[in-house]
Amino acid sequence: MGKTKSLPSRAQIAEYWRDKRLPNGDEVIRDDYEPSCWACKRWWHNEDESKLINDGNFKALWNHPKYILERCHIHPKALGGSNDVSNLFLMCSQCHEASPDTTNTNLFFEWVQKRTYDKMIKEHWMYDLVKELQSRGIEVSEFFNWYNEDEERWLDAHESMNTHGFKVVNSTLVAGYLSYYLENAV
Ligand SMILES: [Zn+2]
Repeated sequence: MGKTKSLPSRAQIAEYWRDKRLPNGDEVIRDDYEPSCWACKRWWHNEDESKLINDGNFKALWNHPKYILERCHIHPKALGGSNDVSNLFLMCSQCHEASPDTTNTNLFFEWVQKRTYDKMIKEHWMYDLVKELQSRGIEVSEFFNWYNEDEERWLDAHESMNTHGFKVVNSTLVAGYLSYYLENAV
């Protein structure tokens, strides 16, 4: 009686949230079988993943140590928040650290939505590509429709991209997709 419940497992928390939505209508969990941070959507490569997915093993997948997801209180524990699954949210350590300590849960969810947008969209190459298309007066929907008509085109465009010994950076992706489009579609 009055004793604090211990923290539920990540799988128990994910099980509760898997059919829930944020105030803006977005699903909390984008992919049930690909655990990622619920704020910035960062994910981790896991070679055990496909086996666990094939087994339909939701519990083992979400509890897998490879996913460095922290169990974060929505209404902070120090401010009276409980250890109930409904008060816990799975995030990477950077998002956990950056998230607001507030008893106003609406403000917490607004922060999550903004974090997703900032990390996922603004820092994503797709955002740069759309800006590039718009500045050149290329119809964005036409561009994507052309690529999606034949998915092989995305792969063909990769042929011209190089990592310069490091990694494929955003500007390389933008230039690669754009030049392949300009050479073949128009
Ligand atoms: Zn994160």
